[in-house]
Amino acid sequence: MARPLTATIDLEAILYNYRYAKKLQPTCKAFAVVKSNAYGHGAIEVSRYLDDEVDAFAVAAIEEAMSLREAGVKSPILLLEGVFEEDEWHLCEKHGFWSALENAQQLEALTHSKVSIEKVFLKLDSGMHRLGVDKDTAPPFVTALKNSGQVGEVVLMTHFACADDLSDSATLDQLAYFERTRQSLGEPIEASVANSAAIMKWQVPEGGWIRPGIMLYGISPFSEVSGRSIGLRPAMTLSSKVISTRSLRKGDHVGYGLGYVAPEDHVLATVAVGYGDGYPRHAENGTPLQIKGHLASLAGRVSMDMITVRTEEGDVPQMGDEVVLWGGEVPVEDVARHAGTIGYELVTRMTARPHYRYL
Ligand code: PLP
Repeated sequence: MARPLTATIDLEAILYNYRYAKKLQPTCKAFAVVKSNAYGHGAIEVSRYLDDEVDAFAVAAIEEAMSLREAGVKSPILLLEGVFEEDEWHLCEKHGFWSALENAQQLEALTHSKVSIEKVFLKLDSGMHRLGVDKDTAPPFVTALKNSGQVGEVVLMTHFACADDLSDSATLDQLAYFERTRQSLGEPIEASVANSAAIMKWQVPEGGWIRPGIMLYGISPFSEVSGRSIGLRPAMTLSSKVISTRSLRKGDHVGYGLGYVAPEDHVLATVAVGYGDGYPRHAENGTPLQIKGHLASLAGRVSMDMITVRTEEGDVPQMGDEVVLWGGEVPVEDVARHAGTIGYELVTRMTARPHYRYL
């Protein structure tokens, strides 16, 4: 018998969410962002499933793009971080990758390599101050890229720092900086600015390319609400089983550090999942989950392979009972909040140990 921990991935839900992103920005083409193993959902499985539908995929770097091509994925693939070595430009040409370009070294390597690239996404630092060129440097970069004769099309891209915070005007400032820079380029150039939060809530430039990531997986980019409540279909269900039960007396302590104290007599269930699988080590007592469809809560520190759980009064857990850690009625966003993090991190940190099942 196998350990009963399974991550079930609903590929159709991901396709639904991709189409939903496009419906929200109907004038735009859309990447499916599948970096970091498709946010833990399995980049190869997800990309193969979406390959005939998407306008293009986006990954962080060349290794991820290569593994998709080797798996037979045919759509164009954008490298969001650009290239790190000149050789990578040759791989881009050979495999039809597009690349972000954000500094003079990448530009010099491109020119030196003499390769032809279908699209280069020039990254503008519009305020996040992480990567990219500024408004004064963008025009000479565009000129250099066009004059090189190596690039089919230059797209101007940027990334938002606060798009998930609707009360923060930083996004409007970034958009204004972006548009000023775009106009200063003299000729029309396509835009790519929007991550999931911007696709869902901000007015982004018409046309061009949107870059949905987290929303594809049915997870909300906004910390206070769940994906389901904003029209998305959550794609991952992490489920396991009760592997042991015991009766606690009021005052009994549980787990590493004896970090949970039974407030009264109750039954405790032990479930096969732990931080070695990607369940967050910092999830606090009270973190929600479901046993046999009933709400239950974490009781005790998360171990590498197990957690201990308290059911609601009247529910007596049995060995073999089905447990949902997240997915279904347990939003991953809620679990994340109880672990002091965001849904993005929980799914992305899933390890290879659970069984992955694709619907
Ligand atoms: N674009 C870039 C440059 C990114 O780095 C990311 C993710 O971090 C995305 C788009 C997708 O963002 P989200 O997952 O919030 O939709």
